[in-house]
Amino acid sequence: MVKAENVRKRFGRHEVLRGVDLEVATGQVCCVIGPSGSGKSTFLRCINHLEKIDGGRLWVDGALVGYHQRGDRLHELKPSEVAAQRREIGMVFQQFNLFPHMTALDNITEAPIRVRNEPRTQARAHAQSLLERVGLRDHLGKYPAELSGGQQQRVAIARALAMRPKLMLFDEPTSALDPELVGEVLDVMRQLALDGMTMVVVTHEMGFARDVGDTVAFMDEGVVVESGDPRSVLTNPGHERTRAFLQRVL
Ligand code: ATP
Ligand code: MG
Repeated sequence: MVKAENVRKRFGRHEVLRGVDLEVATGQVCCVIGPSGSGKSTFLRCINHLEKIDGGRLWVDGALVGYHQRGDRLHELKPSEVAAQRREIGMVFQQFNLFPHMTALDNITEAPIRVRNEPRTQARAHAQSLLERVGLRDHLGKYPAELSGGQQQRVAIARALAMRPKLMLFDEPTSALDPELVGEVLDVMRQLALDGMTMVVVTHEMGFARDVGDTVAFMDEGVVVESGDPRSVLTNPGHERTRAFLQRVL
C-alpha cells in the first residue's frame, strides 16, 4: 500500500529525509518510532502531499505520489489529480484540529458532502455509524469544546474515516492527551487495525507498537535505521542507535 524508495526532503540546507526506504503492505499496521527531529512527521506529510519530496520515489496503492510516469519521465499531477490522491488518505494529528464552530456530526459530514458530493442524508447516516464505532453515539450534537481530548481525537478519527480512505496516517495521536485518556484512543485504533485498515502510526506508545504493529520502523536522522517484526526491533534491535533510543524511552 505504501512504498518509499530513497525518499529525500530538504528544508533549505537542512536535509531532513536522507533516503527513507519503507514498505507497508495492505492491511498492515506500521508503527514509526524515533527521536524528536528524526523526520517522522515530515515523512507522513510527504505521503499525504503536505510536503513535496526532493528525491526518490513514493507510492501509495501502486500510484506515484504527486507524479505520473511516462516512459522514463515523471510528470507532476494536476491539482485535481493531487486532490483525488489525497482523498484516499486519512490523517490524524496530535492536535485534533476539529472545526470548533461545528458539532461532532457536522465535523464528520463536512468533507463527504463538500468534497465527495455525498447526499446529506447518506453522509449523516455514515457519520452516525462512525460515531458509534468510536464509542460516541450519544455525543453527535456536541461541539469540540464540550468534549474531552480523548473524545475529540475519536471524532477526528471518525472524520478521517468518513472519506472512506484506503490508508490512515496517525502522527502522535495520543501525545497531547492526559494519560487517562490515551487508552480510549488507542482502543479505537486497535479496533481499526483489526478491521483491516492499512495504517502508518508515528507513536511513542511502545506497548501499542508491540501489540498492534505488524511492523515497527525506527527512524533516526532522516533514515529508517531498521524495520521489521515489533518483537525483534523492540526487544532485540540490530543497531546500536535503536538500542540507545529504546533504552531512553522504555
Ligand atoms: P518529533 O518527534 O519532535 O515530532 P519528527 O521526527 O516528527 O520529530 P519532523 O517534524 O519531521 O521530526 O522534523 C524533522 C526536522 O525537520 C526538524 O529538524 C525540523 O525542525 C525540520 N522541519 C520540519 N518541518 C520544517 C519546515 N516546514 N521548515 C523547516 N524545517 C522543518
Ligand atoms: Mg513529529
